[in-house]
Amino acid sequence: MQRYLWQQADGRRHAYDTQTNTGARSGQPFTALCGETVTPKTERGDLTAGLWFDPECRDCVVRLAAALGWTDNEIAQMVARREEVA
Ligand SMILES: [Zn+2]
Repeated sequence: MQRYLWQQADGRRHAYDTQTNTGARSGQPFTALCGETVTPKTERGDLTAGLWFDPECRDCVVRLAAALGWTDNEIAQMVARREEVA
């Protein structure tokens, strides 16, 4: 399993660390990289089903990039580019 995974929960896509969270399950709260505790929900119990329309959590994007070894400069460039598109 990859160390960091994305999960749609509470209206955004958050990243989480699989070393500190056992894995996202429907109805089970988890703490995302941004520090928020969020709860994924699904009607059919399969979190991977369907389309993920919610936007990424900006804090999670930045914290994931930092966790993967990006430099502050690289992160700043990425944030600036995302803001141009948004
Ligand atoms: Zn987040």
